[in-house]
Amino acid sequence: MSLDILSMTLEELTAEFEEMKIPKFRAKQVYEWLHKHLAANYDEMTNLPKALRTELNEKLPIYGCKIAKKQVSQLDKTVKYLFSLHDGDYVESVVMKYKYGYTICVSSQVGCKMGCAFCASTLGGFKRCLLPGEILSQLYCAQRDIGERISHIVLMGMGEPLDNFDNVMRFISLITDEKGLNISMRNISLSTCGVVPKIKELLDRRLQLTLSISLHAPNDELRSRIMPINRSYHVDELLSVCRKYAAETSRRISFEYAMLSGVNDSDECAYELASKLKGMLCHVNLIPVNEVAESPFKPSSPQQVERFVEILSKKGINATVRRKLGSDIDASCGQLRLKENKVRNKGG
Ligand code: SAH
Repeated sequence: MSLDILSMTLEELTAEFEEMKIPKFRAKQVYEWLHKHLAANYDEMTNLPKALRTELNEKLPIYGCKIAKKQVSQLDKTVKYLFSLHDGDYVESVVMKYKYGYTICVSSQVGCKMGCAFCASTLGGFKRCLLPGEILSQLYCAQRDIGERISHIVLMGMGEPLDNFDNVMRFISLITDEKGLNISMRNISLSTCGVVPKIKELLDRRLQLTLSISLHAPNDELRSRIMPINRSYHVDELLSVCRKYAAETSRRISFEYAMLSGVNDSDECAYELASKLKGMLCHVNLIPVNEVAESPFKPSSPQQVERFVEILSKKGINATVRRKLGSDIDASCGQLRLKENKVRNKGG
């Protein structure tokens, strides 16, 4: 067996059951238990014979997440989960409540290889890619826990989704499956630090999802300093594929820009950014950087953030400052895992 059960399509599960000499209708039952009723284990699948549940448990283990820690923000009810995986690793997810419903920010890898200077996920080191089912399971566990439908997904947790391309694509097709939770493609955002060849592959699929680009700097000199990926794919190359993406999908690109005091928040940076994005169907999200204990960056002052927005707006670039949610609970990527690993390392 090459795939775990939570990562299989109904067709694949049916073929697997056929080989195991299990009646076909059982595949549909199990698939619905997993992806519609969000069962976390076979014992919850009460309309399956006990012997079959035992057999499945042995032969097709469910590699789901378990809640290891949960923090609820006193400020805005944002919920941060630390999930443990079947092999003892940890990933993080955050659930946020907006006017239009619940959004979950999921992780795609344990840690990250990309090395962005301001990001906690990188500090924790790269461990492995997540299976499609492990990405699904973050949403399933959280939805079970809060007891409300989660309607929007952002792939903005730990990891670089385009560095786990096939598994992320399979996750997207399972989560939008009408036989499962049937989440609308338009309610999914995928965020990347700018892996250009993979953005091209994504474009070839013509999905109606929102592409977010973590830009954080308007030129190569600055961007290469804080984001090593820029040494492989330069700003102009990245922006040119973004222009193509927006033009061919008619979907607005969202640019993330973390404001680092004295680094990328000058008026010159704002003017340079505006000139590079001119005419593109896009939006800029400014985020005062979340301070990470191990990193030297400080958030820009609210006044400087305001100036930056004003310059962009004056130059015709749509920009907003992202509301900061869950700042009392370490709700930015990698922070909790980092703490958990430190505690574990101290303990043993
Ligand atoms: N690897 C993907 C997705 C994960 S990071 C990417 O790079 O887009 C999600 C977003 O949080 C990215 O825009 C990332 O640059 C940003 N981010 C990381 N650390 C941050 C911090 N300390 N403060 C603010 N934003 C941060």
